Amino acid sequence: MSAAGPAMRSRFFARASEAAKQIAGRQPVTLCFSPLINAIPRVSPFSTSAPSYCANHKPSATTTQTNSTNSEPTDKYVAGLRKNKDWAAQTAREHPDLFPTLANGQQPQILWLGCSDSRCAETSMLGLLPGDVFVHRNIANILHPGDLSSGAVIEYAVKHLRVKHVVVCGHTSCGGVAAAMGSKQLGILDPWLLPLRQVRERNLATLQKLPPDEAAEKLVELNVRESLNVVTQKSVVLEAIQERGLQVHGLIYEVGSGVLRELDTTDSDEAIKARLVAFKTEA
Ligand SMILES: [Zn+2]
Repeated sequence: MSAAGPAMRSRFFARASEAAKQIAGRQPVTLCFSPLINAIPRVSPFSTSAPSYCANHKPSATTTQTNSTNSEPTDKYVAGLRKNKDWAAQTAREHPDLFPTLANGQQPQILWLGCSDSRCAETSMLGLLPGDVFVHRNIANILHPGDLSSGAVIEYAVKHLRVKHVVVCGHTSCGGVAAAMGSKQLGILDPWLLPLRQVRERNLATLQKLPPDEAAEKLVELNVRESLNVVTQKSVVLEAIQERGLQVHGLIYEVGSGVLRELDTTDSDEAIKARLVAFKTEA
């Protein structure tokens, strides 16, 4: 336990107590845990660049602090809530049928399996709209074969929503990949990153021949291919590929340019036959 621990807890309980008083007095409650976040060291094994997240946060003043040129709050949560109303109105003007249609259900054509990274907002980067992309994101777009969360998303999207495309998307400067390329202990993240380390192990000779940046980018690509293997080993996916032409794609998102690159993921006929024999099951 670091020396900061008691002080952090003290601030936490002070804010919780203040929130309780506000509830008792029927005042609007705003909870912000950024002081706790700011207590976390900013140099982490996940860093691929210096993060600025919450670096200038001032809890007592930031929620009303504005940019002098356009009166926009500098706190992104406050700004986002304000912008939501404009966004909803503008989207409704540009697409009058969109929200009424979405209120009755969804028919996304794409299942997107990507990284949680804030720079990788799938619907924005594709220039699509709400209702177009069904999404599962996690650290470093890793698909554990036994993971209930991603497994349920894939089954629901493929079997019930009947998406036409399944996309696994990795990205450059991925903090999860950077962590798996290092050797620091990361607690709960170690078992999460295990498949990525196994990919690194299997391709160590190739990766060690490359400069560090290129090795990390290569591991991003290998990780996408590994996740695609997991997706296409699921019986529900194999069935949809065979029966209605479901397509599975691997992409890399370049965070420095905003551009998506498609990987060649064509399998040989032999590989496809072997996968069907080994993994396609029937009720
Ligand atoms: Zn990432």
